[in-house]
Amino acid sequence: MLLNRVQTQLLALKEQRLQRFRRTVDQADGVQMVVDGHPMLAFCSNDYLGLANDAGLAQALCEGVQRYGVGAGASHLISGHSRAHALLEAQLATLLSANIPSAQALFFSTGYMANLGLLGGLAILAPDTEIFSEALNHASLIDGMRMARTRVRVFPHRDMASLEQLLAASTSSNKVVVTDSVFSMDGSVADVPALLDLCRRYEAWLVVDDAHGFGVLGASGLGVLEHFGLHDERLLYMGTLGKAAGVSGAFVCAHEDVVSWLVQRSRPYIYTTAAAPALAHALLRSLALIVEQEGQQRRAQLKQNISHLQQSLLQRHWRLMPSETAIQPLLVGDNGQALALSARLFEQGLWVPAIRPPTVPDGTARLRIALSAAHTPAQISRLAEAINFLEAQMPRS
Ligand SMILES: *Cc1c(COP(=O)(O)O)cnc(C)c1O
Repeated sequence: MLLNRVQTQLLALKEQRLQRFRRTVDQADGVQMVVDGHPMLAFCSNDYLGLANDAGLAQALCEGVQRYGVGAGASHLISGHSRAHALLEAQLATLLSANIPSAQALFFSTGYMANLGLLGGLAILAPDTEIFSEALNHASLIDGMRMARTRVRVFPHRDMASLEQLLAASTSSNKVVVTDSVFSMDGSVADVPALLDLCRRYEAWLVVDDAHGFGVLGASGLGVLEHFGLHDERLLYMGTLGKAAGVSGAFVCAHEDVVSWLVQRSRPYIYTTAAAPALAHALLRSLALIVEQEGQQRRAQLKQNISHLQQSLLQRHWRLMPSETAIQPLLVGDNGQALALSARLFEQGLWVPAIRPPTVPDGTARLRIALSAAHTPAQISRLAEAINFLEAQMPRS
């Protein structure tokens, strides 16, 4: 009886062709993977700098295990807060101190939890907290707002005038504007300076989720705040460490008082076992790579790869969306055609996902190409040629 209900729901998903599948990666060496036994060239990972398979980072992780063991054994407020976690937080705060006055950082196990923890912690500062959320925000931010059980206003994508109207009309004593820095299905960068300007005028916090920017944007790879040269105590910055940084985890960086408050009250920070200290130890090495010459070279390579792709695609009727970041979506339009394109590429050993509604608006199904510094020019050419060939073959939808 109970299982019947699950089976009916699963069948419904199957019939609507909305069922999701996981592919099993047997081996990965940068962008080259063995997937369910087949060699594949991947254009779908968030490992933008190619650090996830870096030998130095692997060694740092082993070193961390030798020093701290494999598990933290407890939550941060009990006995799980290791020297490695403390050093990582101190280093992150130092790096972001040019953007956030009296900066302190708080390490979370994942970006999903960091967003829940940050929004939840902010919401309980006042009973009348009101959150203003950009329409294309990531699911983890949306879940964070839901969990915070506070009033949420959604403003249309990039619409500063609408946001200003909402802020002007609000009587809340604790206003929080929330945005992604790089929109993950478009690759475009939010106008964070304009958002910050509004937040200054209407006395609001600005939460910036820089999951796709940290490590990539800015001269030293410190992310979107460095990219735009912003500095303000109302900035609440969330960066992830499982994408460009190549490991896992995330952090919130904010004024030290905000971080102290989160340590007191953020339930997703408090009531969970601390991430393995060895991960934090490896992340220290990753941070060094990101800001040093190594990181600069990798960012330069990524930039070259982006322009190489842009120059190689013919774009007869499928268009690259305007993006300067590693996320280069090719707008196909029709759902079936986007799926067919992705499937044909997969048969040729090229792994690029199709993204369909409801993840993106109706009629804007796309191929989401994610580039990395680890791609070689020959690999980018191979992808471009395959797409150009299929574009000529497949009828315009
Ligand atoms: C990936 C991502 C997250 C979640 O980070 P994890 O560390 O993977 O949990 C949050 N926000 C955005 C915009 C993301 O792309």
